[in-house]
Amino acid sequence: MPHLVTLIPGDGIGPEVAGAVVHVLQAAAVPIQWERVELNAAIIAQAGESVPLDILESLRRTRIGLKGPVTTPVAGGFQSVNVTLRKQLDLYANVRPVRSLPGLKTRYQDVPVDLVIFRENTEDLYAGLEHEVVPDVVTSLKVITRKASGRIARYAFEYARRAGRKKITAIHKANIMKLGDGLFLRCCREVTQQYPEVEYRELIVDNAALQLVLRPEQFDALLMPNLYGDIISDLAAGLVGGLGIVPGANIGEDCAVFEAVHGSAPDIAGKGVANPTALLSSAVLMLFHLGEHEAARRIQKAVESVYAEGKPLPRDVGGTASTREFTQAVIDRLQ
Ligand code: ATP
Repeated sequence: MPHLVTLIPGDGIGPEVAGAVVHVLQAAAVPIQWERVELNAAIIAQAGESVPLDILESLRRTRIGLKGPVTTPVAGGFQSVNVTLRKQLDLYANVRPVRSLPGLKTRYQDVPVDLVIFRENTEDLYAGLEHEVVPDVVTSLKVITRKASGRIARYAFEYARRAGRKKITAIHKANIMKLGDGLFLRCCREVTQQYPEVEYRELIVDNAALQLVLRPEQFDALLMPNLYGDIISDLAAGLVGGLGIVPGANIGEDCAVFEAVHGSAPDIAGKGVANPTALLSSAVLMLFHLGEHEAARRIQKAVESVYAEGKPLPRDVGGTASTREFTQAVIDRLQ
């Protein structure tokens, strides 16, 4: 029986990179049956909600999604699709492995980066609770709960135990947000008691940003609330070559949605030059999740061998190849 997977190509570069991924998985003969659903600003406007019901129903049924980006309007408009989806399906753990690719020339090419980001995915300033108290005075509520902090911490420590990660660094600003980030840290400290084999430390978010830029190799796994996770993910992506290559997973009890860290990249959309590596690597994470380990390893190896050979690479990582040329090179290296 093939795995039934909801495919949301999204908008911007989404359809280009999703097309590439479907192509590679087909070439690798992975037993997947896609249930394709469209999502973009026009569909959202027509449905009157960020994630129309048929998409939620599809994901609840298949319990697995591969998702491209959907543009989020800035300073107004509908609520972010990602935020809505994560909340509606309770996809509480955002997991983003950030690794140097073999042979890829970056500013940090001599530094081996291999870390995993665990980002709480359902609350913090993403609760979307904003209020104009009086004209020109706005408050945005940062929500931190024991339930959400405890379960992302448990997820991170369980993952570390399973995957042999040795050290988790909790990132916070509890010197300023003593109650909110303080609660997050308390929950992490409680969970750490049950995992004595995993080293635990804490770092204030501004220092974490500095340390990541100075000595990224000191980090193994990073655990943090939602907003810091968003920002630190992009910073970490910059260490290994940019947003074109970093994958991600949104995991809940009943459902998991795999998607790249990057957004819809409107500056390059429709030009056929987007790098599909990030969504392809997200699909590799999905295959591991589905138990298709052999196919996952084959695809990962094919991607890595293109990077190791140094061509053909997409433009964002210093090459000149189109999305199609890079995708074909990956397919040619599938063994
Ligand atoms: P969002 O707010 O939706 O997360 P963002 O502000 O993080 O989006 P992106 O859309 O991810 O922005 O793009 C940031 C930059 O990275 C852009 O210059 C874009 O072209 C580049 N970029 C992102 N993804 C890719 C990709 N897959 N291939 C090539 N370049 C990319």
